[in-house]
Amino acid sequence: MASELCNHVRVVVRVRPTTEREKTENCRSVVQVVDNHMLIFDPRRRTHQVLGHKESETKISPRGQTKTLIFGEESTQDDLFKGTTKAVLDGLLNGFNCTVFAYGATGAGKTHTMLGAQNDPGVMYRTMTELFKRMEDAKEEKEFTVYNEQIRDLLANIGPLAVREDSSKGVVVQGLTLHKPKSAVHILEALDSGNRNRTQHPTDMNANSSRSHAVFQIYLRQQDKTASLNPNACVAKLSLIDLAGSERASATNAKGARLREGANINKSLLALGNVINALADPKNKKTHIPYRDSKLTRLLKDSLGGNCRTVMIANVGPSSKSYDDTHNTLKYANRAKEIKSSLKSNVVSLDSHIGQYAVICDKQRQEIVQL
Ligand code: ADP
Ligand code: MG
Repeated sequence: MASELCNHVRVVVRVRPTTEREKTENCRSVVQVVDNHMLIFDPRRRTHQVLGHKESETKISPRGQTKTLIFGEESTQDDLFKGTTKAVLDGLLNGFNCTVFAYGATGAGKTHTMLGAQNDPGVMYRTMTELFKRMEDAKEEKEFTVYNEQIRDLLANIGPLAVREDSSKGVVVQGLTLHKPKSAVHILEALDSGNRNRTQHPTDMNANSSRSHAVFQIYLRQQDKTASLNPNACVAKLSLIDLAGSERASATNAKGARLREGANINKSLLALGNVINALADPKNKKTHIPYRDSKLTRLLKDSLGGNCRTVMIANVGPSSKSYDDTHNTLKYANRAKEIKSSLKSNVVSLDSHIGQYAVICDKQRQEIVQL
């Protein structure tokens, strides 16, 4: 079984362009992109002291093995894909679980980055297109099967979808439909309809505020065609996640059910932050990581620490209008990049009497909905 130690979570920051409204309101810029690897938050310290912020500048800069990549306002969807997720596909094809998640406040550009627009698609589309291209290129040597899961709203207000752990399948969501897509186009059609179903409620902050996490997962099963004796198969999982807005519920004037929804979202993002902190803490012996504190973290248990390659895309707005959100997101990103994980490839021998692949494929075949 292949293993690789001390691979860090890869953190990238994307600064979205200044909006027309920010321009007309003459908002000042609070992020300075120094180069591809360094960003300074609020470079005009004197102003920010006047505003009453005592904390020193948050600098996102390289430390350890992973260099944080910074994508400025002019960055394209293709830059983002090439600089982040493209490399993750190598991991997936080598049998590692991989996760890419977009974190940030409402309006910071998460959905634009992950889903994008029809004429300018984001990471999900580009990743699927590249994956199917690579499978086509390697089809002489390997047989590939792709299973696709969409988890619509992890929060209890729709569903509830129970997350449980299975000794062979890992973390599973009960009652979730599983699809066997034939092509990237099939996946994207499913993705599009799933996204339309996402709960969206207008709040005072943003008319299109997303109050749910959208988790898109692909299982890739591959089996060597050339080795006839004792062939290996592996199943690896790719999770592409557009998280709910990270702003505080109190900042949105939400009431009643909306407030509870906001509190749930914050609870799961807080739990994600706690898991990230625990994994990143060099003193923590990794015996207690609080995955169980939310559905989101339980779902990501086998995809954050341990057996995984993880990219966090921190989406931030450039202007003083989103001062606190941008500051909080950068702090969160700074912690995330301290995570080290030991990686194991999911290769199993086809001869092993109850190989992981067989359980995943056979049990789930019963649930497969042909697209
Ligand atoms: P979020 O999902 O974080 O709430 P969105 O992705 O919906 O934010 O972005 C908010 C608005 O800003 C949308 O109108 C989106 O099209 C625009 N936007 C965000 N990032 C970019 C970008 N990099 N380039 C152009 N427009 C962007
Ligand atoms: Mg969104």
